[in-house]
Amino acid sequence: MHTQLPYAAPLIRQLKHTSGTYSLKRRDLFAASLAAGMMGVARRGWSAAPDGTAPQAAAALGRTALHGTIPRLVPIRAHADQIMDIKVCLRPFRPAGPRMDVEHVAGKTVVHNYGHGGSGWSLSWGAAYLAVGHAAATLERRVAVIGCGIIGLTSALTALRAGLDVTIYTRDLLPHTPSMRASGSWTPDSRIALSAQASPNFARTWEQMARYSLQTYRDDLGLPGNPIDFRDNYTLSDTPLDAADHAPAPTDPGKGTFATTGAPQSSAEFASYAGLIADVTPAPELLAGADNPFPVAYARRTPLMIYNFGAYAHLLLSEFHQAGGRIVIREFHSPADLADLPERVVINCPGYAAREWWNDKSLIPIRGQTSWLPPQPDAPYALDYKGVAMISKSDGVMISGYDQNGLGLMDGVGNISERPDRAEAQKAIAVVEDLFARFQPRNG
Ligand SMILES: Cc1cc2nc3c(=O)[nH]c(=O)nc-3n(C[C@H](O)[C@H](O)[C@H](O)COP(=O)(O)OP(=O)(O)OC[C@H]3O[C@@H](n4cnc5c(N)ncnc54)[C@H](O)[C@@H]3O)c2cc1C
Repeated sequence: MHTQLPYAAPLIRQLKHTSGTYSLKRRDLFAASLAAGMMGVARRGWSAAPDGTAPQAAAALGRTALHGTIPRLVPIRAHADQIMDIKVCLRPFRPAGPRMDVEHVAGKTVVHNYGHGGSGWSLSWGAAYLAVGHAAATLERRVAVIGCGIIGLTSALTALRAGLDVTIYTRDLLPHTPSMRASGSWTPDSRIALSAQASPNFARTWEQMARYSLQTYRDDLGLPGNPIDFRDNYTLSDTPLDAADHAPAPTDPGKGTFATTGAPQSSAEFASYAGLIADVTPAPELLAGADNPFPVAYARRTPLMIYNFGAYAHLLLSEFHQAGGRIVIREFHSPADLADLPERVVINCPGYAAREWWNDKSLIPIRGQTSWLPPQPDAPYALDYKGVAMISKSDGVMISGYDQNGLGLMDGVGNISERPDRAEAQKAIAVVEDLFARFQPRNG
């Protein structure tokens, strides 16, 4: 059958280009278009290394930054009396990885797209591409998207870009969703699944999502307002960095595992997939001698992609409205509420709220908190020291004590409190304040 639907045309053109034929069964069409999309990604250069060997970050750690390439760094004005906001959110974590299957409920085809843990911003475009592929395979023209966090909005935009007619139904718009309480950097495998609970195919799916997202973010670099940007990220340590990198994740055999207790028990259980995209991940460089401006023995520099939330939310919502998307403010209470929607296809993107609204008790909350100090445009860099991350962004200086209690990836697991903790914020800021109290700015 030759599909003639206008919204499928770009995908079909892509298929013709890559496979030389239109003769595909309907259910194969969008799976193949996904493959074509991923091939497109490869054609544009985000492919695996041609010889199949990804550069190893560990080997690159041996490389020292070129002398003179560390810019003069203005100290960060990190003081607790500068706090202008403390944000808390729960990472929507599922041990098996994000829910991305299709089910039929209340007369609708429901495509799930939730549960992206600490990687929702990073994987959003790739996850959207997969979800829209499922939705488009129904050949319905009208699609409802539930939720307007980063996952819902990128799903809606991806559907619009494919020519579908899209309405978002949501309790809140992006600026008021939990998504806006994240740190906002490229962290594609941050608490995305547990190794033993994710299916064997998930690593490949993750790689596809990460590569597709990265390519899409590349398209948004350099735009006015810098919605997507890069920072030099300085990883600092008082002990050798490679030793810290390869230190075994904290484990306590007496505590058991997710399989024996129903909850993750150690950092070692969390999956790590970063090696799958090492060929497109800028490697760190060591800062040696006078090229290390920090008052610590060990430092390295790595380029880090960041999201400037205000500019990026504005960009995405503007494109959605300009392309004819509609938004309806509405709260759903049970799956049966879907019955009165005019659309027959629903992409379900409620984030952690799926635990109640879709009764998905596999979701585990992982609490995280960020503190925001006034923007410091004269100091556009990021750093990581003693379990505290700092990113100087256009919408403020973000400081987060992501591991100040020695818990590693277990920090915040199972903690459902969304109440800001000022003492925690002050403790994190104090680490950065102390660092810069010892910092000797270079002249000139
Ligand atoms: C401290 C912290 C730092 C993080 N840092 C990063 C990072 O640097 N990089 C990264 O990639 N990820 C990061 N994350 C993870 C990321 O924030 C999440 O994975 C992502 O925001 C999830 O987005 P979402 O759209 O699925 O959910 P949400 O943002 O929760 O959006 C859900 C949407 O659904 C709507 N909704 C929910 N229930 C209903 C209902 N019943 N009826 C109608 N509408 C409903 C809501 O109104 C909202 O619009 C971080 C998370 C935390 C907590």
